[in-house]
Amino acid sequence: MGEFEAIRQADMKVATIGWRLVTANAALCDRLEPGTGLQLHTLEQFDTASRGAARAHFGFATPVAVEGVVAGSPADHAGIKADDSLVRVGSVEIAALAGKPMTTDRLVAAQLAIAALPADEPMVIEVIRAGAAQRFTLQPIPVCRSRFELRIAPDWSASADGTMVQIGSRFVEEYADDQLAAVIAHELSHNILRHRVRLEERGANFGILSGFGANVKYFRQTELQADLLSVYLLTNADYPQRAAIDFWRKFGPSKAGGIFRIRSHPAWRDRIATLEAELAKIAMLSVRPVIPALVDERDRPLDGNWNAIIIRHR
Ligand SMILES: [Zn+2]
Repeated sequence: MGEFEAIRQADMKVATIGWRLVTANAALCDRLEPGTGLQLHTLEQFDTASRGAARAHFGFATPVAVEGVVAGSPADHAGIKADDSLVRVGSVEIAALAGKPMTTDRLVAAQLAIAALPADEPMVIEVIRAGAAQRFTLQPIPVCRSRFELRIAPDWSASADGTMVQIGSRFVEEYADDQLAAVIAHELSHNILRHRVRLEERGANFGILSGFGANVKYFRQTELQADLLSVYLLTNADYPQRAAIDFWRKFGPSKAGGIFRIRSHPAWRDRIATLEAELAKIAMLSVRPVIPALVDERDRPLDGNWNAIIIRHR
C-alpha cells in the first residue's frame, strides 16, 4: 500500500472511532452538529513536494474533497464516495470559503460551516466525481460537535481544542483499536466539557508552563474529568469499558512515568485507580446511555479541586 493510502486508512480509523463515539453519546452533548460521516481533506495540507502526487492520487477537482466515508453513516447511505470533490454542502459553497494558500484554513472553514448547519435537516451535496457533477441528498443525524483528525508526528501527541480532536499517528500505529478509542474518548471528553475555554478563563498557561504554579490544579482537574467522562463515552458506544485502563497499563509505565512524568497530569497509577472506581459505579447502572453528573458542570468555572475526584493507587 502506498503512503497516501496508508494515511487515508489511519485517518479513517480515527474518524470511524470518533463517529461511533459522537453518535452514541449525543444525549450527553448540548452542542450538536449534523452528523454526516464525511471525512474531508484538502490539497493544501500536502507540502509542495508531494502536492502534485497528492492531486494525481486523490483527484481534488475542488480544494476540499472527501477523504473517506464512514461505513454505515448517512454519507455512505447517500452514495457519496471517497475522492468525490465537494462543490456544495447544503448552503455551504466550498469555492466561496476564504483561506490562505498552504494552510488548512479552507478545510477548517468548510468543516465549521457544515457543523453549523441544522443537525437534522436533509442536505443536498454537490460533488465532482471523475470529472462529472453529481448531486446527493443526505439525511444527517445529530451528533456531538467535534471533528477528528490524524496528526502525523513522531511524538506522542493527542489534543482537543474545543472543536477538534487530533490524534498522533503513533497511537494509531501502536495501540489496539479499543485502546485507541479510549484515547479518542478522553480527548472528546475535553471538548464536551469545554475544558479549553474553561482553562483559558482561569488564565491557565498551556505548553511548558502547564506544570507549574496555579496551572497544575486546573490541568489535573480537567485530566481527571476527561478520564471519568471517557469511560461513560466508551460504555455508551459499546466499547470494552476496560479499554481506558488497558491503555494506561501499556502507556503509563513507558511514557508517563519516571522522567516522562508530566507535572500537569496526575500519576498514571492514580488515573487507573480513579477509572476502576468509576467503572464500579457504572456497573451498578443498567440505563443506557449512562450520563454522569459531570456533564452538568460544563458551564461552571473550574474550581481546581482535583483532590476531590482522584482515587489514589495503593
Ligand atoms: Zn487530556
